[in-house]
Amino acid sequence: MNARRDVGIDRKRLEQSIEELGRIGATPRGGLTRVALTDDDKRGRDLMVRWMREAGLRVTVDQMGNLFGERAGTQALPPVMMGSHVDSVPTGGKYDGQLGVLCGLETIRALDTHDIRTRHPVMLAIFTNEEGARFQPAMIASGVMAGKIPLEDAYNARDKDGIRLVDELERIGYLGSEPCVPRAFRAYLELHIEQGPCLEEEGLSVGVVDGIVAISWSRLTLSGVQDHAGPTPMRIRHDALVAAAKIVTGVRAIARELGGELVTTVGNLVVQPNIVNAIPGTVTMSIDMRDPRDATLDLARRRLDALVKAACEREGVRGELDHYWRVPYTPFAADVVAAIDRAAHASGARFRHILSGAGHDAQYMAAIGPAGMIFVPSRGGRSHCEEEFTPMDDIEYGAGTLFRAVLDLAG
Ligand SMILES: [Zn+2]
Repeated sequence: MNARRDVGIDRKRLEQSIEELGRIGATPRGGLTRVALTDDDKRGRDLMVRWMREAGLRVTVDQMGNLFGERAGTQALPPVMMGSHVDSVPTGGKYDGQLGVLCGLETIRALDTHDIRTRHPVMLAIFTNEEGARFQPAMIASGVMAGKIPLEDAYNARDKDGIRLVDELERIGYLGSEPCVPRAFRAYLELHIEQGPCLEEEGLSVGVVDGIVAISWSRLTLSGVQDHAGPTPMRIRHDALVAAAKIVTGVRAIARELGGELVTTVGNLVVQPNIVNAIPGTVTMSIDMRDPRDATLDLARRRLDALVKAACEREGVRGELDHYWRVPYTPFAADVVAAIDRAAHASGARFRHILSGAGHDAQYMAAIGPAGMIFVPSRGGRSHCEEEFTPMDDIEYGAGTLFRAVLDLAG
């Protein structure tokens, strides 16, 4: 093996850990179903706690069930944190989240193997319910920690069966006592799969993430006139679905016309009454738009307003457009990004700078301290599916980059 590139990291040990954790909640087709606060999530957490204790970490659990394992530093300084999540979406993959946690654990194990003491403590964090597959919103626990979501609201989040998050935390034994509040850290580092095709297409092993794109979510309700599909002549119809169709293709056109890195999606469409012989009276839909530049997103929102107005007028339906959620572009801390850049360079990885198109716990952590992310490739750009895969060579470069960045930042 190339000694220059794997200083510190034990590839075999990391690979074994990925396999072992990946067995908890494994699906027959090589994926993972370990949805937040289920029995499998508990088993995954139990294994992580055991490994953290075996690595000599002081393990604590906070009020949101977030797990922290701390390796002492030589001075009383804020820690360098590494983190991600171990919950998955149903029939998801075993790399999303797990990889960040396990590369963090490997970094700590490697510090021990090489008997390295750091000035700052080094900490591993595992956040509860990152995916939002069971309890909304996603990233709920880092959101509470950052002070962006009230603890009470998070506790009262219910899954589709009406079960409260706090009751499930208690049931699986992870309702901790440590306050879930902003804490000081020297840096927060999250290694994660890219979940897009860019790194693989360019033959790169590592992405140094500069920031997370701005995101806008809107909800549109179109109200037409529900009527019989037979006796109603075409000239007097007010069909909510016909207006919706114009808007779905129009949303796609906004991205094409404004160009750049703008992406636009209608992912949810509900038609009423949704039967064969009635003209649709009501349609609701979601509109998700993302771009690195807030100004482009502002422009896209104005285009959407105009698009909805025109489509409604043409069909004679009423439209109610609610722009209900917006997060601005989240730039990562310049000194953390620079440390990751140096680490990627030193690890010998082929890398470039990149933006994240998806939200991560690092987004909330960036609100309370200096944060950064490291991406590794996703085969075919695919994630949140059983086919999710990252080659071990790339994982090794990613873990090596994380290890070096931690050494750099923890002193
Ligand atoms: Zn994730």
